[in-house]
Amino acid sequence: MNQLTVELGERQYPVYFRAGAAIELRERIEALGDRCVLVTDETVNALHTQRLVDALRARGQKVGHLIMTPGEAEKTLATVERFYGECIEFGVDRRTPVVAVGGGVVGDVAGFMAATLLRGLPWFQVPTTVLAQVDSSVGGKTAVNLPAGKNLVGAFHQPKWVFVDTQFIETLSPRDIAAGLSEAIKHGSLADPSLLREIEAQAASLIRRDIDAMLSVVSQAVSIKAKIVAEDERETGRRALLNFGHTLGHAIEAEVGYGTLRHGEAIALGMRFAARLSTQTTELTPMAVSALDNALDACGLPGDWAHYVTRPVLERVALDKKIDGKWVNAILLRALGDPQIVRMPLAEFQTRAREMAQENRIGEG
Ligand code: NAD
Repeated sequence: MNQLTVELGERQYPVYFRAGAAIELRERIEALGDRCVLVTDETVNALHTQRLVDALRARGQKVGHLIMTPGEAEKTLATVERFYGECIEFGVDRRTPVVAVGGGVVGDVAGFMAATLLRGLPWFQVPTTVLAQVDSSVGGKTAVNLPAGKNLVGAFHQPKWVFVDTQFIETLSPRDIAAGLSEAIKHGSLADPSLLREIEAQAASLIRRDIDAMLSVVSQAVSIKAKIVAEDERETGRRALLNFGHTLGHAIEAEVGYGTLRHGEAIALGMRFAARLSTQTTELTPMAVSALDNALDACGLPGDWAHYVTRPVLERVALDKKIDGKWVNAILLRALGDPQIVRMPLAEFQTRAREMAQENRIGEG
């Protein structure tokens, strides 16, 4: 598959899949007009974006080049405010295209800026991490963090196209690749168990940065996400399925401190727990749990989920912005590829997690 469409009526857009297409990318940006704003971070800039900006400028395009410090800690209103100022100075108008070149942080910041500046600019995504390629670049969620929590200020703003080139992964660490694959495993668990088998079988090549193996996985993972987004753009129902593994995963990520575990690693722990909870509540078979574990293990993602189920982590579950009063919408599986949203009292979720973790630790000990 070299292209798909995210079917959203008048907001529909293409996602292009390539393995080494720097010239095509430059041409697509040139086709947007004689000027654009390009948003990136320092790391991606040094490795990839500066070259692209130089090439665009050499061919006569006017480029506003916005560079942020890398990292989740910079996903703030302060960064967006600085970018607003730089955009105004550059002379943007409501047709000026904003192109995000980077991981999920750059995408979320650039997207939020594009959603809000002058009441909305058209924007385009060039995701450069596996996580951004399989997940965050598609779906139109944009946000920044507040001191009180992650992604608390945001907007839905769909990009006009997404250009996925797996060649960008050649400069990522194996750990970052594995963390991104965790989200692809999530998509496979929700809709296509054969994707789990492919990731397990190809794990060594994927971690070694085989850009063709990655292209196959990324395009399948995006196609699953695109279908779910098309059914429920604003997350009033089915899109919540994409939170599989996230209720516990987010709590673990926040409790150990952002940056200690990669987002995808925390989600891997959350998925392992959610699968085990599914054996108790939605009759997922132990064989299916093993299939999920095997795919995660093959990528070297952490397995010791029970170790992270501590009292502070369970208290944090209650703070998740997706908790509805005293209820958790737990994303569980009846089978691989057959998810279900189960409303469960928060107290029951916490008790089950504590008991299952205790049992697991006794079993291990
Ligand atoms: P990131 O953007 O911070 O990138 C991780 C690190 O990799 C950064 O230091 C970055 O500079 C570096 N990097 C990026 N591309 C590189 C490359 N090709 N080579 C070498 N280094 C590179 O983080 P991420 O993991 O891509 O994304 C995480 C963010 O995505 C979180 O803020 C999360 O909330 C967000 N997210 C958003 C959505 C959504 O739907 N909008 C979905 C999932 C996650």
